[in-house]
Amino acid sequence: MIILYILAGLVAVILLFLALKLAQLKSGRERAGKELGKMVYDKLSPIGSVKNLSILPLIDFYSTGDDLKTEPGVSYLIKADDTTILLDVGYNAKKEHPSPLILNMEKLGVKIEDIDMMFISHLHVDHLGGMKEQKKKQFSLSQGPMPVPELPVYAPDNVTPSEWNPKPRVEIVSEPKVIKKGMASIGPIPRFLFLMGYTLEHSLAVNVEGKGIVLIVGCGHQTVERIIERAKSLFDEPIYGIIGGLHFPVNGGRIMVGPLNLQAIVGSDKPPWRGINEQDVMDSIEVIKQENPQIVSLSAHDSSDWSVTRFKEAFGDRYRDLKVGEEMVI
Ligand SMILES: [Zn+2]
Ligand SMILES: [Zn+2]
Repeated sequence: MIILYILAGLVAVILLFLALKLAQLKSGRERAGKELGKMVYDKLSPIGSVKNLSILPLIDFYSTGDDLKTEPGVSYLIKADDTTILLDVGYNAKKEHPSPLILNMEKLGVKIEDIDMMFISHLHVDHLGGMKEQKKKQFSLSQGPMPVPELPVYAPDNVTPSEWNPKPRVEIVSEPKVIKKGMASIGPIPRFLFLMGYTLEHSLAVNVEGKGIVLIVGCGHQTVERIIERAKSLFDEPIYGIIGGLHFPVNGGRIMVGPLNLQAIVGSDKPPWRGINEQDVMDSIEVIKQENPQIVSLSAHDSSDWSVTRFKEAFGDRYRDLKVGEEMVI
């Protein structure tokens, strides 16, 4: 009898929690929608251009070999002419020092002093270098002292460097902004996610001479539809490439708790039983196809193998694998 009471109590608590979360989701979605509606910007011109662009994944879910660390997180080294940008700093789920990011940098011959600026896509655990970092709104390249110099960090929301890398200076980007010749933030796009709550994310746009805009995305919580819409409102150049996370943990995910696909629940602005589904993936592929990009590369850190396969089928030889250690030259 007591067990029955306990069970009934548990069910009541779960139902109450769900009801509360759904109410928050409804008002949060309305708030994000209203804010997005007010985000109307002039063209970001002249943005200028770069001649050369390459992207070297330092952290992602797949790698070129066993000697490199992988995790469901993101860190990309972007070289645009003579500027080197570190986009996000990985997950470091086991709180290690040196972190998987630092170990991969060593293996790939990347030095901290090579980095000229940093770009934080959004304030989630798998991009800030740890769970503690997410809670404290900080970022860490590792869980021990790292000699990161006093370089600029472009972030869409309030974040500070942690005690391990205290020198970088954060600039909060609240609207689209050219950060250097040929390189821009498309500005934050808000979304209210179930469990994760209000999330601001921005993506990096690089204008490659004679080709067009290459969009480099962290988790893609903004939705690729809105990223493309924003980019088209800011630039006259065509969209040449879309590279990075677009958050399609469909028919599988990278963070599973038993049968629960956590990424599908926490990264959606829909109730958990609706999640992110096959139709969402196919719809987004159609939206991307309309822009006729010449390079499409989907990060597997927040997308399933099923989604990666759909992208490969849809874009054929324009699809590039995204793997730690494999430099993508644009
Ligand atoms: Zn992510
Ligand atoms: Zn995220």
